[in-house]
Amino acid sequence: MLCLTCHRVRPAASRADYTAERASLIVRQGLCVCSAPSTRPRRQAPVRKGAPTPK
Ligand SMILES: [Zn+2]
Repeated sequence: MLCLTCHRVRPAASRADYTAERASLIVRQGLCVCSAPSTRPRRQAPVRKGAPTPK
């Protein structure tokens, strides 16, 4: 269940993997991002220039 690289909880492969034990492990160890799918395009937040700052 744990990633060998970062020793965090690897993403669940199926719904059956979403257990309470796994959830508590994720809270404690964190979620592995080593094998995160790269299908999600990285979108950088647009930098606001000249945005009015409330005083
Ligand atoms: Zn990992």
